[in-house]
Amino acid sequence: MKILVPVKRVVDPNVKVRVKADGSGVDLTSVKMSMNPFDEIAVEEAVRLKEAGKATEIVVVSAGIAAAQDALRTALAMGADRAILVDTDAEVQPLAVAKILKALVDKEQPKLVIAGKQAIDDDSNQTGQMLAALLGWPQATFISKLVPGADDITITREIDGGLEQLAVKLPAVVTVDLRLNEPRYATLPNIMKAKKKPLETVKPADLGVDVTPRLTILKVAEPPTRSAGVIVSDVAQLVDKLKNVAKVI
Ligand code: AMP
Repeated sequence: MKILVPVKRVVDPNVKVRVKADGSGVDLTSVKMSMNPFDEIAVEEAVRLKEAGKATEIVVVSAGIAAAQDALRTALAMGADRAILVDTDAEVQPLAVAKILKALVDKEQPKLVIAGKQAIDDDSNQTGQMLAALLGWPQATFISKLVPGADDITITREIDGGLEQLAVKLPAVVTVDLRLNEPRYATLPNIMKAKKKPLETVKPADLGVDVTPRLTILKVAEPPTRSAGVIVSDVAQLVDKLKNVAKVI
């Protein structure tokens, strides 16, 4: 079973982002970038399936600027076999990414696509779903467990009422949630080895995809700062404040 894993380069989750003065977006000057954390989980799951003899090849794909290669190299160091950079300076929005991935799925013929449930920069949570729709494949989102079968996979999803188990026929698209696994760190020897693994570069036009953005960002703003809290001395004072100051009871 060949597995395709899309990985996005995003602002590192430990960075406190700043909004640009003109409100046009987030300031990315000198900001540390990393692989989207959910995509690390997706890569880890694919590598575990390969280690268990259930997967034959892992292809990782990223759409973005040349620096997105860093995320691909990290995925290769974690254990992916091959990488494809879809090189573009345009801001690639979820529908464009889904179309790019559809073109690559048509070419690569994987049995399973394991994507992150969302990219932590735009929080769109759309790409996996759109890809499944474009392919006409079954999809299972926010999975926290994956058990491979012969022609299908059994997955677990965390939902409001508990855990939902679904059998999903392959080929399929799944998107992963936080509790699926704990991704490994790439070791130095594996980082060195990853430098020699194949990384192919293509342009969106080579795949017949127009990546022109369809959504326009009108304004990006910092969340309002919270005012300082008050320590109350007893329950009576708390009730009084809730009633007469916050006016919520
Ligand atoms: P989103 O729909 O943007 O929240 O992203 C969901 C998932 O789609 C991510 O976790 C990645 O697996 C994949 N994805 C989104 N954007 C890209 C991109 N530019 N390149 C590769 N994969 C992406």
